[in-house]
Amino acid sequence: MTKSVKQTPMMEQYMQLKAQYPDAFLFFRLGDFYELFNEDALKAAKILEITLTSRNKNAENPTPMCGVPHHSANDYIRKLVEAGHKVAICEQLDDPKLTKGMVRRDVVRVVTPGTIMEEGALTGKENHYLATFYISDDVYYLAYVDVTTGEIRLTSTTDEELFFNELRAIQARETVLTPALADRYLTKLKERVPSYYSIFEASDSSEVTTRFQLTVASAAEVKVLDYLFSYLRSVQKTENDYVQPVDRYEISDFLQMNHYTKSQLELTTSLRTNRKKGSLLWLLDQTKTAMGGRMLQRWLDKPLLSKKALEKRHQKVALLKQAFFERIELLNYLTNIYDLERLVTKISLGHANARDIDQLRYSLSQITPINQVLETLQAQKETPTFESLPQFDDLYEQIDHLLVDEPPLSITEGNIIRSGVNDTLDRYRDALTNGHQWLAELQQKEREKTGLKTLKVGYNKVFGYYIEISRLQAAQLNDSRYERKQTLANNERFITEELKELERTILSAQEKSESLEYELFTQLRQDILPFIPALQTLAHQVAALDVLANFATISEQEAYTQAIICNQAGDFELTQSRHPVVERLIGTTNFVANDLTIHPDQFMLLLTGPNMSGKSTYMRQVAYCVILNQIGCFVPAKFARLPLVDKIFTRIGSSDDISSGQSTFMVEMMETNTAIRQATPRSLLLFDELGRGTATYDGMALAEAIIDYIAHEVKATTIFSTHYHELTTLVERLPMLKNIHVGASEKDGKVVFLHKILDGPADKSYGIHVADLAGLPKSLIIQSQHVLQQLEEQAPIRQGEQAITLFDAEQLESAAQTTHHGKIIEQLRAIDLNQTTPIDALQLLMSIQSQL
Ligand code: ADP
Repeated sequence: MTKSVKQTPMMEQYMQLKAQYPDAFLFFRLGDFYELFNEDALKAAKILEITLTSRNKNAENPTPMCGVPHHSANDYIRKLVEAGHKVAICEQLDDPKLTKGMVRRDVVRVVTPGTIMEEGALTGKENHYLATFYISDDVYYLAYVDVTTGEIRLTSTTDEELFFNELRAIQARETVLTPALADRYLTKLKERVPSYYSIFEASDSSEVTTRFQLTVASAAEVKVLDYLFSYLRSVQKTENDYVQPVDRYEISDFLQMNHYTKSQLELTTSLRTNRKKGSLLWLLDQTKTAMGGRMLQRWLDKPLLSKKALEKRHQKVALLKQAFFERIELLNYLTNIYDLERLVTKISLGHANARDIDQLRYSLSQITPINQVLETLQAQKETPTFESLPQFDDLYEQIDHLLVDEPPLSITEGNIIRSGVNDTLDRYRDALTNGHQWLAELQQKEREKTGLKTLKVGYNKVFGYYIEISRLQAAQLNDSRYERKQTLANNERFITEELKELERTILSAQEKSESLEYELFTQLRQDILPFIPALQTLAHQVAALDVLANFATISEQEAYTQAIICNQAGDFELTQSRHPVVERLIGTTNFVANDLTIHPDQFMLLLTGPNMSGKSTYMRQVAYCVILNQIGCFVPAKFARLPLVDKIFTRIGSSDDISSGQSTFMVEMMETNTAIRQATPRSLLLFDELGRGTATYDGMALAEAIIDYIAHEVKATTIFSTHYHELTTLVERLPMLKNIHVGASEKDGKVVFLHKILDGPADKSYGIHVADLAGLPKSLIIQSQHVLQQLEEQAPIRQGEQAITLFDAEQLESAAQTTHHGKIIEQLRAIDLNQTTPIDALQLLMSIQSQL
């Protein structure tokens, strides 16, 4: 006989709700706890490191269960979401005290990685995006929203590569897509764009174009926004009134860099540590507000292409840079401004407490002095450089009128509203104050009546007011008015009719005043709602001011200069330019500044020089100057003239994409392919040691062909570093190519790097010197010197000597063959036995053996 398992009504309610949220942990509210059951309990107990129990211990199949207290649930929710899960929060919809039978329950919100707003889960200076996309007629529409700030952006492209790149650049915490798109793209997306992927089938739809202030939206744009917001509604279960107007942009309106280039250039994270330290952002970011920090990151990701817009930014930076005292003052006021964007969102969602409103008040109080500084700054200017910030005097007054100076966190326990602003509240407060007076009087009266000098009136949350005397005295007390209430170790607590009456008056005054304060507070919060769009505009202006003041500070501290923006593509002039991050790390005095001249007629540089001499540093610093200029900052140089670059492609350093499972060379060729196909004459290409990943001759052959292709087809500004000296003769037939090299000199057989960029080709590659510096065994160094000498004697291939063309490979190979045996004999002769360790000897033997 099988026993049918009958669920309790509550468990039935649970099961029903859980069935609606299969992909989330269901936090089921039971009194003061959120409980999890079954699979959820098993998994959550592990992740959260909490005790697993069971619900009906004695049953045959007890239900696994674990729980977290509701007042500390936020931490647990955050932990689960950060571990890549969703949490559905189910609340009691009725007051259990007033309800007979089952309390109604429902999910009030689903917390997901892209919609979490819990404090601690957000990084102040980072955006927190939820993204989605839609494909229609081969156009990719990408929409993303930061629910913590209300920013929403929309772009489209026909280029799949560009779409993937943009999606990756925004670093969405969560990307939501329809089941149909998931079928087609999920695998590919997961390989290329790290994010948390949610699959969601939209069921509702509403008009977005008016609500999100997007005029003339195409059907596809409406669709993608609709979808995004129907997902948001499905998890947040609220309206998103705080969402800002849609910011629609074209990817091609900004300087484009693909993910690979950004990471190679270490714009926001260092390659070696994957941390912010050591990156350009790390160097730049001294912003004072969270909004400013986020804006700086966005600017760095999207440098401008508009000369007019950039000159405006430069003008502001110049003014702020030169006005030292005003800038310091401004920075002080900015430091006092809280995260207005996120505060506004909290207010709109009804999550803001009195501290949040206090932060808004304090922030608003900084606007007038900031405007005064801006006025002084441009006092002598004919046309104003800065617009003044919008002031919110009335709103400030309204808040300041009601809110006490340092309000508490809780909005239900009073002490939020000032005295003298509401008559009813004042009356309750009088009762409370008088109540305390009455209690003191009662205590005095009872002491006299009983003759007990230590008798006292006290209060505790559970038992209310009481009269306390020692147990000894209580035993002797003979007063019928005294009713025993609680017995402690040494004391007895009593209550009298009179005290009961007093308690009722005081507690009801307390309760009433608390609820009135709550009401007044929520009304105040409500009254702020109409100001939200204007406050968001203020937040933008503050953020921009913060970033520009930041640029001014860094430009002054690090002696940067304002670049002249020229219209001609391929026209670069940098005098005494530096790599800002390396300079910061090794110190200004240790860094050797370098010049750069690129001309529209000679737009390619072939850079030769020993390894470790500073070739890639030089190339990076050119890219940094371009980027800094195009975000509106000054550049690390004495003088700078720069064109506006539309795209930057790099192939720098030897770090390969091991994680993708492709060989260095393959990645190199793929990157090169992207670069030469997408670059325009306005682009900047930086190729470091291209072709190194394959055999000498095909590497060299490819390198030459690529240079040729860029020279004639792409015509992009290019710096090409190489250790193939053979390539330096290319200048003879390519007038657009110029040789430069990093200087090195030899001292006592050791190489000394000068880090100085000079005209012309390098005289030799110093490879063996570098190997020597790296501490390779002496015998090995000696052997390589011999091999080199003989190779050079047989086949002089170095520039300045009889240059061979690339395709003299056979000649070189046979030369190498004939020297083979002689080489070994030479090697044996060269051994200095007194200086050779047994290990060196063994290695040498091994090398000889393998050569034979
Ligand atoms: P390469 O690309 O030629 O192998 P790098 O550009 O990686 O060399 O530079 C190697 C190291 O040399 C850098 O880490 C830096 O410390 C130092 N360096 C490079 N350029 C300079 C410079 N202009 N002044 C001082 N030190 C430099």
